[in-house]
Amino acid sequence: MRTDIFVTLVNNLMKTDLKDNDEMTNIVDECCRALGISQIEIDDFNAHEKSVLMYKKYDNRILNEADYEDTFTLEKEDGPIGLRFWFDYEFPEASIDRGYGVQLFAAILKLNLSRFVKIVREEVSKTHDLASGILNSRGFLTAGQRILDEGRGTNFASVYLNVEKFKIVNQIYGHDAGDIILAQAAKVLSTILANLGSDHIVGRQSGDSFVCLVSKDCMDEFLETLETFSVAYNDNGKMVDISLSFYIGIYEISIRDRDMSEVMENSSTAYSLARHNGNLIPVYYDQKLRELIIREKDIESKMRSALENHEFTVYYQPKINLNDYSLIGAEALVRWLENGKVIPPDQFVPLFERNGFICNIDFFVLNSTCRALRNWLDRGMDVVPISVNFSRVHFSNSRFAQQIVETVKRYHVPPKYIEIEFTETMDVADKGKLVRAVEYLKSYGLATSMDDFGTGYSSLSLLKNLPVDVLKIDKSLLDSKTPQERIIISNVVHMVNEMNIKVITEGVETEEQAEFLKDIDCIAAQGFLFDRPLPHPDFEKRLNKGRYEKDELKLQETMEM
Ligand code: C2E
Ligand code: MG
Ligand code: MG
Repeated sequence: MRTDIFVTLVNNLMKTDLKDNDEMTNIVDECCRALGISQIEIDDFNAHEKSVLMYKKYDNRILNEADYEDTFTLEKEDGPIGLRFWFDYEFPEASIDRGYGVQLFAAILKLNLSRFVKIVREEVSKTHDLASGILNSRGFLTAGQRILDEGRGTNFASVYLNVEKFKIVNQIYGHDAGDIILAQAAKVLSTILANLGSDHIVGRQSGDSFVCLVSKDCMDEFLETLETFSVAYNDNGKMVDISLSFYIGIYEISIRDRDMSEVMENSSTAYSLARHNGNLIPVYYDQKLRELIIREKDIESKMRSALENHEFTVYYQPKINLNDYSLIGAEALVRWLENGKVIPPDQFVPLFERNGFICNIDFFVLNSTCRALRNWLDRGMDVVPISVNFSRVHFSNSRFAQQIVETVKRYHVPPKYIEIEFTETMDVADKGKLVRAVEYLKSYGLATSMDDFGTGYSSLSLLKNLPVDVLKIDKSLLDSKTPQERIIISNVVHMVNEMNIKVITEGVETEEQAEFLKDIDCIAAQGFLFDRPLPHPDFEKRLNKGRYEKDELKLQETMEM
């Protein structure tokens, strides 16, 4: 064996920076030749299997595995890499040195292979998700852009998918299993799309979000398949089928679309809306959504200056005792007065909850309410407790309950005049924060209430751990028409009364509803039958009057001004 040639080649092998697959292969080939090993080749990097396969290239004489003279396997963190080699029978200078030479060669190759694998992985990870082998968002963007550039975009819709409540899967099986399940989900998605036709592409946007380009013709079938989407997972030797549901945003590519990132953005916007509404029905990005987004962008650009310029104001909606029609409280509700027009909260509160601005608004409403109460008290008026809504978004601020107390103290308003309204939450972590906040506020003498009972996830079971003072039954429960639904509301009232929690029903619009509530012992009510939310001066008049005459009760039709 020409040891000198071998040493030179090995040195070259060690020196090469291996950026180039061909360069690596050439050097390996030369090494092989010098050692009398039949040629070997590095196969394509196979992202799916996470390994580099090496195999002989053209050796006509050795046809089966038994003929391999030796094998060399290195265990890498991402699976074994097998190197098999064959001595050339015809090699003229076969000598005892060869065994040593092969060992040395294998060791050098091992060293270089791990570097090579690392480089290839880095290279592949620029466009692919290594865990699942499908494209990553960058790879998807490039592949999608190619389709747009080729003028084929209008055949497709971009679909953004996010697994609903994947957190729960992580909680049940653990995060490592969660990663495997998501990689598996990616493969299942890719198979579904491959079965629908070869043109589709799928990418992993991030953890549990995927993006696809699906041909418009196949969309119905695709969405139908997603309804029964499941992933097989080996849970300690037991195969389990994990069903997954998706929030889905869809954007149908039009002839005007040139930029794939805008296309993806549109489907992701549609998805955000589906997710925000907790809606598993696919949301399409269409003209209506486009207008909503433009309006929201406009609102977002104005909201800070609007707060500084006193465009936000507080209306107060009375709460009434149904036995004697006396005024027993009020709810502070925010309004945005823009150029003399009232913008109702449903047009900006959901947006402010998404962008966090609701926290500024809630404290603005609390400050205004405290200021108003201080003013009425200073003038010797009889006042009633006023409730202020606090969004769940505050739960990310660990000091918000203290800040509420500090605000009330600043105005020297006795705490019995302020009540804080919260809505029920599904999130386990938020539940703990809600309980702590309610306890803290209570320790200072502030009352709390659970708003919108009977909608969303509200449940009576929460009340046993949550020391709220008041339960507010939502209008939707009152509007129920069937006898069964009436039984629910009367039993809720009965149980809550027994638990020494006060109960009030909102959205009372008719005398018949007021009578029904009285019959079932729900004595407190709020609704248009008595008053709409009133601007400060009108509410002040109501406060001075202190009660309602029976004959003035009618559905308050007057629009808010
Ligand atoms: P909410 O806290 O449940 O407030 C009660 C809503 O029901 C008010 O709507 C009120 O005007 C309406 N309402 C009261 N009686 C009747 C009735 O008889 N019939 C009908 N159809 N509606 C009635 P509004 O003021 O439009 O507020 C809507 C929601 O916006 C509120 O629901 C609350 O979730 C949110 N919101 C309003 N102001 C604030 C605020 O300052 N902070 C926060 N975080 N949310 C607020
Ligand atoms: Mg409320
Ligand atoms: Mg409510």
